[in-house]
Amino acid sequence: MEDMIKLGVSSCLLGEKVRYDGGHKLDQHLKELLGRYVEWVPVCPEVEMGLTVPREPMRLVGDAVSSRLVTTSSGIDHTDWMIQWANKKLRTLSSMDLRGFIFKSKSPSCGMRSVEVYDAFDVQSKTGIGLFAREFMARFPLLPVEDDVRLQDSSICENFMEIVIAGLKK
Ligand code: SF4
Repeated sequence: MEDMIKLGVSSCLLGEKVRYDGGHKLDQHLKELLGRYVEWVPVCPEVEMGLTVPREPMRLVGDAVSSRLVTTSSGIDHTDWMIQWANKKLRTLSSMDLRGFIFKSKSPSCGMRSVEVYDAFDVQSKTGIGLFAREFMARFPLLPVEDDVRLQDSSICENFMEIVIAGLKK
């Protein structure tokens, strides 16, 4: 296991029951196909920062660049807590020689692109980046990252794995 390539992944994609509703988002294809080549480093930002399972769902609020992470009904703003936790976690990950990360799409914490953001008038646009993904990509701008939806495209998946295995920088 020591020599295997380490790849970060949103925990719910491996079948861990960490989602707000107590469920998971197992991507069997991803787990089996890429699991042959990599040692997974699972991360669930929301649970690891201290939120419970189940929990109130969250969404991004504000604008695409500086959106905030807010619970959907009670309006509790978890942005500062998440950023504080993420900075600590990223320091740990930086010593783990990760070769890349696979994020869960659409999540206000993990989504790396096109996440729903709600403006002051509650109008939604798919322009956001999940808070943890945003911090991760800012900290490791050269590491290859993808999400589960994009990796359903076999050519994207192949290209991603070639980069990961070669240890090349994007
Ligand atoms: S998308 Fe991210 S924060 Fe949400 S359950 Fe999965 S790993 Fe946790």
